[in-house]
Amino acid sequence: MAKMWINNEYVDSVSRQVFPVENPATEEIIDTVPRGGREDVDQAVSAAWQARREWRFMPGIERAELLHQIAQIIRQRRAELSVTLTCEGGKPLIENRDEVEWVAAAFDYYAELGRDASGRVISPVQRRQINFVTKEPYGVVACIVPWNYPLLLMAWKVAPALAAGNTVVIKPSEMTPLSTLQLVEAFRVLPPGVLNIVTGFGPDCGELLVTHARTDMVAFTGSLATGRLVARAAGERIKRVHLELGGNDPFIVCDDVDVDVAARAAVWAAFLNMGQVCTSGERFYVFRNIADRFIARFIELTRRLRLGNPMGPDVDLGPLIRNSHREKIERLLEEVTAAGAKVATGGHRPNYLPKGYFFEPTVVTNVDHSMRLMREETFGPIAPIMVVDGIEQAIALADASEYGLGASILTNNLEYAMLAMENIKAGTFWINDPLTDNDAGPFGGMRRSGIGRELGSEGLEEFRDTKHVHLDYRLEAKPYWFPYQWDRGRKTE
Ligand code: NAD
Repeated sequence: MAKMWINNEYVDSVSRQVFPVENPATEEIIDTVPRGGREDVDQAVSAAWQARREWRFMPGIERAELLHQIAQIIRQRRAELSVTLTCEGGKPLIENRDEVEWVAAAFDYYAELGRDASGRVISPVQRRQINFVTKEPYGVVACIVPWNYPLLLMAWKVAPALAAGNTVVIKPSEMTPLSTLQLVEAFRVLPPGVLNIVTGFGPDCGELLVTHARTDMVAFTGSLATGRLVARAAGERIKRVHLELGGNDPFIVCDDVDVDVAARAAVWAAFLNMGQVCTSGERFYVFRNIADRFIARFIELTRRLRLGNPMGPDVDLGPLIRNSHREKIERLLEEVTAAGAKVATGGHRPNYLPKGYFFEPTVVTNVDHSMRLMREETFGPIAPIMVVDGIEQAIALADASEYGLGASILTNNLEYAMLAMENIKAGTFWINDPLTDNDAGPFGGMRRSGIGRELGSEGLEEFRDTKHVHLDYRLEAKPYWFPYQWDRGRKTE
């Protein structure tokens, strides 16, 4: 049985309760994990709270060294970590190898960034005064993580939070806690209490972390619905909150593109990790004069995608995370077809894969914005394609959303690309290379897709509070103190 990690020790839950972790490709139970409750959360937060001063005042260069060591150990353990990610999350092994490398890269990046830039000097309003701004950590940060990129989204919080001098308590998703627990081998280089991991369910464990009196900040990635609960609970306590939420990303294909290249890009953006990516292409808008050719090629490429056990070498797509998620996608598909949409390919559970939560990648045409599919996050392997009459209509439809996480356009027409970039609300805008990240570039959502940014220098600032220091280097009585002088300032009246 896997265990939690508090104060640099493996621990069971105080209640001794456990819960199972399932492999979505085989439906087998892989392991059990402690079901953390109030006492466990208390212990983890209290360990982080006690470690906060030692960590905060450790010289930046020493903190950086430890973060680099974490990155190095992660790289050494890449093979086993990617296997665990594959077994618990269902993404193909090849994608999980990349995920592990990106996790190490995030620790390396913030190790260095954390040593840099911690404030500024501003011009004073009086002689003999110096005004400056310093940055300091919030204290204890609760990091709540979803299941689709369990290690990467943990690292995007934990690496900058630690680099900024905070201590952390991590709560991985109840569906994918094992890879995070396996990372303990890298985290043990940190002083006790600096990083703690509690496992459990959202309401038992996550909510307790959000509402705990000694967590100073919550960094959350997950759905809009849970994000609302987290924001509400944090808001009542005026607690700092960082939210990375869902999306319904638009993807525009203009008529000047190479149709084959465009279809390949679009199929990848739609179906990577079975569409279970927060920035998946969720709505495709293609110009009318290339629509027939583009849709035909999109369907052809979709039919070629290989579904199967994600540990296998010749697999493009694994299963969905749970049967309940698959059923949700099936219901959505029924709903849109009843409203007139046409399933061009896919739409079923593959009968050659009786075990596991597999579903065929599905292309849907004849769609419009009255359908929920075009307005809400699907988070699954359904790609709806809508034909548009030009760039203005494409932009108007792409921007007609309550979300604003990412958006993509494929074109060689600079004016189209720039018009779309300026007029579509999105935290990341991709031109001709969808869904790629850059550690140095901020990532996050506009509108209801979130508050705050991860990655880049912005991602570090999220975890630093601001203090203005007003320093007068001579202590002497000021003319504006008591008792008031009535003639003070008369000359200017
Ligand atoms: P989720 O909201 O169900 O769960 C996320 C985490 O929150 C889990 O650890 C869960 O246990 C915890 N949680 C649940 N209820 C809670 C509560 N009341 N208080 C505190 N914590 C609670 O999300 P999920 O299904 O794990 O992940 C999928 C969602 O995440 C999608 O909507 C996706 O778009 C989003 N996502 C966003 C980004 C981004 O960067 N914007 C990245 C990946 C995933």
